[in-house]
Amino acid sequence: MSAATVPPGGGSPREAGPGGAGDDRVSDMGGPETELDEARIAALSAAAVDARQRAWAPYSRFQVGAALLCDDGTVVTGCNVENASYGLTVCAERTALLKAVSDGRRRFVAIAIATDMPEPATPCGMCRQAMAEFADDLPIYLVNPAGARRTFSLAALLPGAFKPEALLQWQAERAT
Ligand SMILES: [Zn+2]
Repeated sequence: MSAATVPPGGGSPREAGPGGAGDDRVSDMGGPETELDEARIAALSAAAVDARQRAWAPYSRFQVGAALLCDDGTVVTGCNVENASYGLTVCAERTALLKAVSDGRRRFVAIAIATDMPEPATPCGMCRQAMAEFADDLPIYLVNPAGARRTFSLAALLPGAFKPEALLQWQAERAT
C-alpha cells in the first residue's frame, strides 16, 4: 500500500496559515482538539493532491484524490477508480478507507480530498456514510492543486447518519 506518515503535530492553532484567495474555508469543527496543526493539514493535503494524479477516470475525466490520516500517523491514500461498467466506479475516499480498514486501521484523525475544482468538491453521500461507519466525526479538508481549502466536519456533512450502534442495538433488542 501507499503509506506515508505525517510528522506529529504540536499545538492545533485554529485558522492558522494564509487566508488567501480561494481560501473560503468553512469551519464547522467541533472544537480545537479535533483540528490538525497547519503543517499536518498541508502534508495531508499534498498527499491527496498527489494521489489524485493516480486516478483512473477515463470516462468522467474527473480526478479525485484522498488522504486518510490514521490514529497511528499513517496516511493511506486513494483515488477514484472508474470502470467501463460505470456502476463499478469507486470514489477516492472509499478507496482510501477500504485500504486502511483492510490493513487493520479503523481509527481515523482526518481526511483530505483533492479535486481540481475552484471550490473543492465535497464527498458524495455514499462516502460520507462509509466514513460514518468508523468515525462519529472527522475533519474533512477539501483542497485543490492551487491551494484552495475548505474545511468541514463529517458530522456537519452527514447529520443523522445511520450508525452501526443503531443496528447492533436493534439486533440485541430483537434477540431478547
Ligand atoms: Zn464518493
